Amino acid sequence: MRRWKIILTAAALALAAAGCSPGNEKEEEPVKKVEDLVIEVDQPEAAQETEQEEDKEKEETPEQKTRTQTVVLDPGHSSVVASGTEPLGPGSTENKAADTSGTSGTVSGLTEYELNLTVSQKLRTELQNRGYTVLMTRESNDVPVSCIERADVANNSDADAFVRIHANGSEDSSAKGAMTICITPDNPFYPALYEQARALSDCIINNLSEVTGCENDGVWETDSMSGNNWSQVPATIVEMGYMTNPDEDALMATDDYQNKIVKGIADGIDQYFGYR
Ligand SMILES: [Zn+2]
Repeated sequence: MRRWKIILTAAALALAAAGCSPGNEKEEEPVKKVEDLVIEVDQPEAAQETEQEEDKEKEETPEQKTRTQTVVLDPGHSSVVASGTEPLGPGSTENKAADTSGTSGTVSGLTEYELNLTVSQKLRTELQNRGYTVLMTRESNDVPVSCIERADVANNSDADAFVRIHANGSEDSSAKGAMTICITPDNPFYPALYEQARALSDCIINNLSEVTGCENDGVWETDSMSGNNWSQVPATIVEMGYMTNPDEDALMATDDYQNKIVKGIADGIDQYFGYR
C-alpha cells in the first residue's frame, strides 16, 4: 500500500498548497489532511490493521503537534503614547506620528490599549499551549512603544508572523464588524511580503468571524500603516470589532467573547502555518 500512500500524500500536499497557506518554507506537512485521505483507500486486511495502529498512535496526540514558528503579538497603543514622528517606512521621506492613543468603549468605558493588552495576553497563552514561541511588543499599559519599535521586535526575533491586536472606532455608532489590515502588492518597502501577509490576514479574519459570529469586513490592503511597512516578516493588524458600537463594545468587554476572539485568531494562525 506504500504506492497508494505516496500518491495520496502528493495529492493532499497539492490540496493544502491551494488553501490560504502561502507555502512558507518553515511550514510542516499537513499531517491531518494526509491521514484523512489515506483512510479512504481499499487495502488488504493485514495492511489495514497496520495502518489503523499507526493512525491510533497519531490520534493519541492530536493537539500536541510541534509548532516550530515564532509569533510576535503587538497589543496596539498604550496609556503613554510614544512621542514624535517616524518615517512611514524604511527610507521614506513621509513622516507619521510614532504612535496614537487609540479609541475607547462607549458603554464599557475600557480604553482600547487595555482591551488590546488583555486579549493579547490571553492569545499568548493560547498560542503557547498550541506549541508556538510567542513574544510581545509590550506587557504593560504604561510604556511608550513606537511603531518602528513594535516592528523591530518581530524583525529582531526572526519571527514568522507579526500579529497586531487593535479595536476599531468610528463616528458612526452603527459601524460594526472585524477586519484585518495588510500591505498592498505594490508596497514601496517590502512588496515581496504581500502574498504571505495577505494569506495571514485572510486566515485570521475568516476564522475570527467564524468562531465569534461577528460581521466579516474582510481584509483592507493599505500601505499607510507604519508598523506593517517596517515589518520584515508577514504582518497583519486585527481590528477585533468597534468599541464605538454599543453592542460590539459590550461583547468585547466580556471574558466569554474575548475567549472566542482568541480561539478565532489562534485557529487562523494555525491555518496559515498549515496545521488546520
Ligand atoms: Zn488601534
